[in-house]
Amino acid sequence: MKRLITGAAFLFAAGTTLAQSDDTNLEATEVAPGIYHIVGGGGNFTLQSGDEYNVLYDNGMPPYSDAVVDKVTELAGDSIDFVVNTHVHGDHTGANAAFAGAGSYVVAHENLRKRLVEDPANAGGAEGIPVVTFNDALTFHINGIEAHVFHSATAHTDGDAIIEFRGLNVIYAGDIWFNYVFPYIDLDQGGTVSGFIAAQKKIIALADEDTVILPGHGPAGTRADLQAAVDMLEDAENRVEALVVEGMTADEVVEANPLADYHDTWSWSFISTERMTRTLYRELTE
Ligand SMILES: [Zn+2]
Repeated sequence: MKRLITGAAFLFAAGTTLAQSDDTNLEATEVAPGIYHIVGGGGNFTLQSGDEYNVLYDNGMPPYSDAVVDKVTELAGDSIDFVVNTHVHGDHTGANAAFAGAGSYVVAHENLRKRLVEDPANAGGAEGIPVVTFNDALTFHINGIEAHVFHSATAHTDGDAIIEFRGLNVIYAGDIWFNYVFPYIDLDQGGTVSGFIAAQKKIIALADEDTVILPGHGPAGTRADLQAAVDMLEDAENRVEALVVEGMTADEVVEANPLADYHDTWSWSFISTERMTRTLYRELTE
């Protein structure tokens, strides 16, 4: 549980398991004392490391689980005591079983646990199913700070958690925020666009201009960056809604391409402009 490494940033060298592509390197940046923004392994995750306990918020994809455990343990200087999941997707929960096998307790919202009970593969196996759950919120009182883990309903999924590191002015948004790309809103697992925007606005309300906000995908950002994401999504929804009101089908809305001028900045391999448009259409019509 003791942190041995100090400094600003680390780039983990690729091991044999991690050497398959560039994004399997784990790059860690200390954004506040003991708080590391880690990029790689499929998505982002956040390490809270200190003299008392180590807590890891999210983790990586199953093919790299053991390597992620090794590298995060190396960074923390000791084993990870608690693993908290912000949502049920495999790029954030897939190494649960590997961490549990190394002695971590897995913690998550009760809806997330229900989904992993149904499909333990997303936890890397049944061993990765959370052993501690919460409904509204829980707080870790460790390493001299409060890490407030709170739920926001029906946002990215129906089991989301956001973490406010009180006193450090850092917030980990999980996949409530994709920094400067179109967001994935998982309508099939309880997410909604309205709940997603509401959750983003909760984070903005907690932040000031100096707050470091860590997204589930993309680089660390600021309140202004997150506000830009909210502004984009609200405007995009309004544009699609105007066409829905005209009676257009989903294909007709895609053909009209109301998000065309967002494409260059926000479209990416997973959530293209068409997919974002269809998500908004579905939200507005189902
Ligand atoms: Zn996700």
